[in-house]
Amino acid sequence: MPELPEVENVIRSLVKKVSGKIIINIEIVTPNIIYNRMEFKDLVISKTIVTLLRRGKYIIIKLSEGNLLIHLRMTGKLLYNGEVNKHTHLRFKFLDGDYLIYNDVRKFGRVSYLNNDELEVYLNTKVGLEPGLMVFDEFKDKLMKKTGAIKKNLLDQTVIAGIGNIYADEILFASGIHPLFETKNLLESDLENLYNNIREILEEATIAGGSTIRDYVNGEGAAGAYQDTHKVYGKSGKECISCGCKLEKIKVAGRTSVFCPICQRIR
Ligand SMILES: [Zn+2]
Repeated sequence: MPELPEVENVIRSLVKKVSGKIIINIEIVTPNIIYNRMEFKDLVISKTIVTLLRRGKYIIIKLSEGNLLIHLRMTGKLLYNGEVNKHTHLRFKFLDGDYLIYNDVRKFGRVSYLNNDELEVYLNTKVGLEPGLMVFDEFKDKLMKKTGAIKKNLLDQTVIAGIGNIYADEILFASGIHPLFETKNLLESDLENLYNNIREILEEATIAGGSTIRDYVNGEGAAGAYQDTHKVYGKSGKECISCGCKLEKIKVAGRTSVFCPICQRIR
């Protein structure tokens, strides 16, 4: 958390508000949040925000020169004119008096300044296929190079970018595939189901404003609604909506995974 739909909603809620704003000061409360903290202020102050973009779970704030690359990890939040509190680690002040704050209860998130070349190299090496843009053949090629459990490979950001624990469970349920199913044994029909469900579920969740499980909100402080549509995530012990059987949970790649033992039978 947050995953692709939540990050996309943070960007959509902020892009019109902050584009064109000139950063005149930055209050740094928690320097550890920033990767290149020594020169950060020198690099960022006086730059104008051009636009906001997303790659996988990353937020890219394009500046008049260079970029801010932000990963929210577990509990990071970017809030426009948001409430400053004990979890506020950064505050970007704009020339017109407005501001953007970075709050993070668990402090796992990171903010970096990268020039255009550094950003391109970083994204090309660390961030996999973009679900909304990938075509079936590149999805298949990239995924089938991987070994081990399909759930682990769906969570691997260098394969497909943007899927975390919530959407991996929902995608696997929709595709009728057990989380521990060996990726190399996937049939062509499994791959087609996965490809379609990845794109559809992430798109539907994005339109619904993302999922708010604990405290996710967008850049204006609004919660998402897709949690009401979840079929398996967080529902261990409840009845499967498809067959009525009890949903079970196991650990895969260190993450709790909920699945239906009938609809997602190991073949
Ligand atoms: Zn079922």
